[in-house]
Amino acid sequence: MFDHDLCNPTRRQFLRYAGAGLITATVARSLPAWAQTSTIDPVAQMRAAAANAKLTTLKLTDALSMISGAGGNIAVLTGPDGKVVIDSSYATAAPQLKAALAALSNVPLRLLINTHWHFDHTDGNSWMRNAGALILAHENTRARLTESHDMPDLHMHFDPSPADALPEQTFIDQFNLYFNQESLALRYYPPAHTDTDILIHFTHANVIHAGDILFNGTYPLIDYTTKGNIAGMIAAADRTLSLSDTQTKIIPGHGPLADRPTLQRYRDMLAAVRDRVARLKQSGKTLEESVAEKPTKDLDEDWGKGRITNDFFVKLVYTTL
Ligand SMILES: [Zn+2]
Repeated sequence: MFDHDLCNPTRRQFLRYAGAGLITATVARSLPAWAQTSTIDPVAQMRAAAANAKLTTLKLTDALSMISGAGGNIAVLTGPDGKVVIDSSYATAAPQLKAALAALSNVPLRLLINTHWHFDHTDGNSWMRNAGALILAHENTRARLTESHDMPDLHMHFDPSPADALPEQTFIDQFNLYFNQESLALRYYPPAHTDTDILIHFTHANVIHAGDILFNGTYPLIDYTTKGNIAGMIAAADRTLSLSDTQTKIIPGHGPLADRPTLQRYRDMLAAVRDRVARLKQSGKTLEESVAEKPTKDLDEDWGKGRITNDFFVKLVYTTL
């Protein structure tokens, strides 16, 4: 979730949006004291940022592409059956996204699949549905989108999504689709980043969209407010590894296109942090004491430059152990 994603705004972004008059008042219940007087609404801020985002399209095969630059990475499968799109980014990125989709092919939009419920992956659902897409997701994604929700760490509040943004078709464990001579195997990950995560395996193309199971190159967000947890993240990485080979292209929720060795290094980082934080917690250290120990010190150079800081990641791991 970088640049315009589910994370705390940078000071520079704050100043930019404050200057542009885009900061609106929001004070969710249960915020820390300093935030009670904050006038930043991170949700509005990220939507505003996405309006100016520049998208890039990476061809993975003749029929399959990855679009990046606003919210979660998007996959697009094109062909005579129409377009299948994985994730819908922010609603405010719709103009650029429509242009990027049109540049790939003029076949109609048929199907939108959400990897999970987070708004940087689902905010564009309404426009895609109104453009002709059926929306398919895990049962829990639909359930989460119908509820109001608070994420106190991120100072975010979400109202229930409008009816036209909700998945029309859902599944529990797995769902198979055959489109454009491709086979799409949709599989549920037990709670990991959230309790709504699925993978989409394009089995002929040998491409996996792993959603926010994988943040390529940075510490990931683990959304414990919807049952995300570190053990689930490691299990999800293992499951994805088991489906991949040396040629597999792995689309992460955030960050550049990945491959099996990249996912393996990330999985090993998750396990190392889990082990270290578990030792601190088992020894009786409080959350604050565990964060102060800097257990990820030697990893921060490689993984700590994203929007999930080392201290926040330790908190996420400690909280979900
Ligand atoms: Zn997410």
